Amino acid sequence: MITFTKVRNEWMLRLPISPVPFRSGQEVTVTKRNGGTSTATLGMFVMSTGDAQIWSIAQAPRATENVGDLSGIIALFDTARAHLRFPAITLDGFRVNVAGQRAREPGSLTVTGIERTHASRFGRGMVRQYFGRVTRAGVYEPSRGAPDGIGQHLRAFAADPAGQAAEHGRLHGCCCFCNRPLRDERSTAVGYGPDCAEHFGLPWGARTVAAPSVSPAAPRNVARSIASEEALDRAG
Ligand SMILES: [Zn+2]
Repeated sequence: MITFTKVRNEWMLRLPISPVPFRSGQEVTVTKRNGGTSTATLGMFVMSTGDAQIWSIAQAPRATENVGDLSGIIALFDTARAHLRFPAITLDGFRVNVAGQRAREPGSLTVTGIERTHASRFGRGMVRQYFGRVTRAGVYEPSRGAPDGIGQHLRAFAADPAGQAAEHGRLHGCCCFCNRPLRDERSTAVGYGPDCAEHFGLPWGARTVAAPSVSPAAPRNVARSIASEEALDRAG
């Protein structure tokens, strides 16, 4: 008989030892305390208790959302990587960075909470809550714990990265790239600081995006990310 059991404040499944091994993704019939039954999908094996084994319950994935063409956002990050090791952009209630080569999908966007609020699973300090990722094809896959409405923000950001960055700064009085308060009136007017403007290849003050140090990189990077999007399209 398979029953529900609470382990560390989380509902899990208690399975009898079986000669036929259970597997992740398998649908099972669970006997409830009132004698009724329901079905659940096995997540991962958690532990063995001697006469039983404990498995997590697989949750139905949340609906994905198409947020549009990411090439503008990717171009910002491509420019920034020449100046910063871990460029990130903070918008309303979340933070975006580009997944590195060791990620499940390198080059996708990782979306997290802003502050480090969650203990790391590996016991190494605190981490930001994972809100999901945006694939290179522009599909937002929210995590189970992601707040609602992030897909909508991401769509606006993809459509006009520089505009959204500027609006965030004007609205909150701090730069979306480095989170520092905007003090200079030119920074307040444009919505981000001069250093970050240079790092991300954006206009600031009297300077424009056509500044010599920036202009050769930006169009090429846009072209490159569009080319890789097309390669992905062909592959899919
Ligand atoms: Zn800044």
